[in-house]
Amino acid sequence: MSNQLFKIALAGNPNSGKTTLFNALTGLKQKVGNYPGITVEKKTGTIKLSNDSKAIAIDLPGTYSLFSKSIDEEVAQQILCNKDNRDYPDITLVVADASNLRRSIFLLTQIIDLKMNVVLALNMVDIATKKGLIVDVNLLSKKLGIPVVAINARKGKGIEVLKKTVINSLGKSPDYPFLDVGKLFKGAIQKANIIRNVENNYASFMALCKQKLSGEIENRCALNQLCKSEDIIPERAQAKETVNRYSLIDKLVKETVKQGEPIGKYMITKRLDDLLIHPFYGYIIFLLILFVIFQVVFSWATYPMDLIDGLFVDIQMFVSQALPKGLLNDLVVNGILAGLGGILIFVPQIAFLFAFIAFLEDTGYMARVSFITDKLLRNVGLNGRSIIPLLSGAACAVPAIMSTRTISSWKERIITILVTPLMSCSARLPVYTLIIALIIPAEDYFGFNLQGIVMMSFYMIGFVAAILVALLLKYTIKSKEHSYYIMEMPSYKIPDWKTVGYTIFEKVKVFLFDAGKIIIAVSIVLWFMSSFSPGDNFEKIEKKWKGHENAEFNINADKLEASYAGILGKMIEPAIKPLGFDWKIGISLITSFAAREVFVGTMSTIYSVGDSNVKSIQTRLSELKNPDTGEAFFTPAVGISLMLFYAFAMQCMTTIVIVYRETNHWKWPFIQFVYMGFLAYFSSLIAYQLLS
Ligand code: GDP
Ligand code: MG
Repeated sequence: MSNQLFKIALAGNPNSGKTTLFNALTGLKQKVGNYPGITVEKKTGTIKLSNDSKAIAIDLPGTYSLFSKSIDEEVAQQILCNKDNRDYPDITLVVADASNLRRSIFLLTQIIDLKMNVVLALNMVDIATKKGLIVDVNLLSKKLGIPVVAINARKGKGIEVLKKTVINSLGKSPDYPFLDVGKLFKGAIQKANIIRNVENNYASFMALCKQKLSGEIENRCALNQLCKSEDIIPERAQAKETVNRYSLIDKLVKETVKQGEPIGKYMITKRLDDLLIHPFYGYIIFLLILFVIFQVVFSWATYPMDLIDGLFVDIQMFVSQALPKGLLNDLVVNGILAGLGGILIFVPQIAFLFAFIAFLEDTGYMARVSFITDKLLRNVGLNGRSIIPLLSGAACAVPAIMSTRTISSWKERIITILVTPLMSCSARLPVYTLIIALIIPAEDYFGFNLQGIVMMSFYMIGFVAAILVALLLKYTIKSKEHSYYIMEMPSYKIPDWKTVGYTIFEKVKVFLFDAGKIIIAVSIVLWFMSSFSPGDNFEKIEKKWKGHENAEFNINADKLEASYAGILGKMIEPAIKPLGFDWKIGISLITSFAAREVFVGTMSTIYSVGDSNVKSIQTRLSELKNPDTGEAFFTPAVGISLMLFYAFAMQCMTTIVIVYRETNHWKWPFIQFVYMGFLAYFSSLIAYQLLS
């Protein structure tokens, strides 16, 4: 092979050290450009392999799998899987992170199965050693049937051996496939080989699974036909392949990697992990952390909340006196300002909650939580990756549902999406806070804030309901696929305060501006609905009470009842009376279907109509009397029933839309809306009937 130029491609996961190795191999002989038509960077260079042979090297974008999920991955896939691509390599160098072998050889084994000429560069051996991992390179090479060279790309160790190995392996393909998809999908693969006129099981499998390969377009019809007749559903077939591939990889890693004592920060990580992912203490610590979070969110947040509350009472008082009396005054004070105050007051709690979530995420602890909960969640039809959406659901179901995209199993993902809105999101906090303060005394029990304990119970109720529903769905949703859990465990680190701060800022912003818009709009509509009535009903009421003692009080009460809002609330009163709710709560329930947090704004608007004294909603509700008994209206029975309704009902338009978008079907949000409504109604009914 004298002076002949052949092509080498460097492939591997992001951050496996491809570019570092590329630099070590090419030195300064590099060219940087873009792939045609896209903004993915393309790096090529010349390598002098020996005195008489040179090669052109291409540094491919980071890739986890040949089944591409991003533009970067697609670029790599196009080059590696298409013989007619101008960059198709004569030999591929897969760069793997030796300290994370399991994840990094996934791609390698796929490339082996394509029967490509491939050499494994086992990089980051220094880190593996610090982690106490000893890789048996010879055994690995024998098991994989390809050459393996241990290197340290950063220090330039092993580069010469690597070059020699590349020269010696030119023109050789792997000894045997790693995973034979021909056996996994008998019949279909052979037929696909015939259609595509190749003898390459894995390439045919990829083509069957709708991956873009050469010859794929002209054969698409025949391949689709084959999928139908052989009962192959691409996503599921691919999931099955992944599961089988990982179980072979696990076996291989067990045989070739020995775990010794880690050193330095890796030892600290290992020691911490011994405790934090311990099958018993791990859970205890997790529960303790959750408990502390909710205590803090509830008690610390009350200080800024009281401040905001007081401030809004002052502003409303000021504006109500500054503006001339009349409709505009009423709109500004009881419509706009009341709604605005109702939103701002919950910012402290949302900020606290996200501070904790972002902090735990950034330290690396969240990954451990996923790990220890995996087995548990698997029993109920979820998996370890569901814990992040579920926990984020404690803040807001919308981003939580969007984060389910990392769950590769279709069924586990659908179940996670369906149950996530049962987790107590921050929009329920205002409702819970308001009602708990009304019905639960602010006392300490054994040093714990009693209101905090009730709050925590409601978070638990949401979580338990989510688990039970998931369990139910596990046995009702049919699916043939298998799932596999892939989770990386980063080293622990001191969190970056900027990252944490940014997350808090981002979430508060979304709450204020996305949810806030709806809340203000609904507040104004509600103010309108409660300030006007059909026909001349208001005049009639005023006439009727003229000259009576207590006229103003009676006029206001009657007006509210006669208003559009009153009419609507009354319409549903018969249905919600058994739950302990009156028509005013009925109005709040209806408006809450736009967003739960509207509840407080609605209550505050409805109860402030015509009341010339500016008071906080809290005071207003606590002064409320039941007309039948003369006692306080908000008894524990009413409060608990109301909180249960909010715990279960699907009262969030945004979530409904997101679920549709993520599942691509109206069927799922519909099912979700119905089952949650059912849970809400009957749990409230039972609670009220038992407690009252
Ligand atoms: P790429 O995403 O695959 O191109 O990875 P890079 O080449 O950019 O490397 C990612 C990081 O790993 C960089 O900070 C490198 O300095 C570092 N790195 C690369 N090879 C090694 C190695 O063998 N040992 C150690 N400790 N670090 C390495
Ligand atoms: Mg790179």
